[in-house]
Amino acid sequence: MGLEKRRQMSGMRFQDQVVVVTGASRGIGKSIAEAFAAEGAKVACVATTEAGAKATADAIGNGAIGLACDVSDSAAVDSMIEAVLEQLGTPSVIVNNAGITRDTLMLRMKEEDWDRVMAVNLKGAFLVTKAASKSMMKARYGRIVNITSVIGLHGQAGQANYAASKAGLIGLTLTTAKEYGSRGITCNAIAPGFIESDMTENLPEDFKNDVVSRAPAGRLGTPKDIAAAVLFIASPDAAYITGQTLTVDGGLFL
Ligand code: NAP
Repeated sequence: MGLEKRRQMSGMRFQDQVVVVTGASRGIGKSIAEAFAAEGAKVACVATTEAGAKATADAIGNGAIGLACDVSDSAAVDSMIEAVLEQLGTPSVIVNNAGITRDTLMLRMKEEDWDRVMAVNLKGAFLVTKAASKSMMKARYGRIVNITSVIGLHGQAGQANYAASKAGLIGLTLTTAKEYGSRGITCNAIAPGFIESDMTENLPEDFKNDVVSRAPAGRLGTPKDIAAAVLFIASPDAAYITGQTLTVDGGLFL
């Protein structure tokens, strides 16, 4: 029975699909991994440590595996994708979610802080996409989702490295959509606003209150808000949407 037939019969959008989620040990990535597994996917959860990756995989079940991989390291990424192919099969969905911040004003920003953020947030997505794309192209089906940020669209004082990496991800998204479109592979970006996670935990309270008061939704976002958008754009139903950046920010930047 074909994948599409099984999906329709089960009512779950990702039944038996293989999904790779980077940065899956916590926060948004963990929520994305959980949401895919709840809809029948076999998820490869990727994080810098095996313990972090496996903790999510064990929690979500449904045949999920946990793999340690620094996404900025091309050899590690190649081995990670090989392990996915061996243990789960060809990925249908790749979610490039791993990301870091090293914030400070530009005048104080060290070159290594610029390089590290670009390496993880931007080069990491390129390396994972490149490593997975051969098998996806053969399968003539795929969904690539890059997690960018509203900061990549609007900029933010103190985040030159982060904003540049996230804006770069939008260029990568557009190019991936153009290069892979004819093989049944779409590539889109999700741009979260301010979401409750370890990354935003230490933001000053008045900054968070200001975000809440300015967002028409009247609250910060949750990882589940982002997971819901990722699952839609990664679903078979989104076949005719590619190269887009969908902002999920409760209307903060309207
Ligand atoms: P988080 O809670 O800090 O989690 C970051 C995740 O990325 C962790 O799983 C971490 O794994 C992983 N990671 C970091 N460096 C890595 C590397 N070199 N290789 C592989 N994995 C790595 O962050 P989050 O808030 O969930 O953010 C997830 C994504 O959403 C990021 O790309 C972020 O830029 C984006 N985003 C977040 C917000 C927000 O408000 N939170 C807003 C816009 C965009 P370890 O546990 O192993 O370190």
